[in-house]
Amino acid sequence: MIPLMNDNYCSIKKELQAAAVELIAVSKTKPVAAIQSLFDLGQRAFGENYVQELVEKQPQLPNDIQWHYIGHLQSNKVKYIAPFVHTIHAVDSLKLLLEVEKQAAKHQRKINCLLQIHVADEATKFGIAENELDNFVNEIVAQNFQFVVIAGLMGMATNTTDEQKINAEFATIKMWFDKLKEKHFNQNNSFSQISMGMSSDYQLAIKNGSTMVRIGSLLFGER
Ligand SMILES: *Cc1c(COP(=O)(O)O)cnc(C)c1O
Repeated sequence: MIPLMNDNYCSIKKELQAAAVELIAVSKTKPVAAIQSLFDLGQRAFGENYVQELVEKQPQLPNDIQWHYIGHLQSNKVKYIAPFVHTIHAVDSLKLLLEVEKQAAKHQRKINCLLQIHVADEATKFGIAENELDNFVNEIVAQNFQFVVIAGLMGMATNTTDEQKINAEFATIKMWFDKLKEKHFNQNNSFSQISMGMSSDYQLAIKNGSTMVRIGSLLFGER
């Protein structure tokens, strides 16, 4: 990795530490050598969004990496990442959660799951619509999962240069987090994460209460 990238990492890391926000280094499409080099600087949480790519990289890298699966996950692929994945960021169906519970039970390990809320304009983005969220969470809580840990919400803002719009979308995610926390997870410390913010908008996300940002291109260069 070129020194410039290391400088970027160190300055972003400092900025996030000051705000007590966790950094997920999004390494999709990047070689294991680039991941190892950030690992050597102290980074432990890495994000990938293709199952096959993650399954190929994981055994080549240190065991104490915390792998975050940030892409859309199909239920039939959960079994491949269940032995090692730390957090699944983009859960938007009960079917998927039931499968995560089943696979996590096989390995007797807990897996953090974040519920993806849909707030952006683009029809292509996955996630639960705002008007379905409360019912969805009701259904989930009733399952009494033993291995799935509902750890919070994840969301993505519209891909636009309109900062007011991005700001409003992040504020909506935070509003839902507070609402759900109070209504369904009041006694549950695990429901604590708001995963929002990428290279282009992480500062706005932090202003709106993000606890976890997913940054790729600023750390590893353009894909
Ligand atoms: C690729 C990706 C990111 C990182 O995007 P950058 O713009 O490179 O920071 C964050 N979140 C998700 C869900 C992604 O797929």
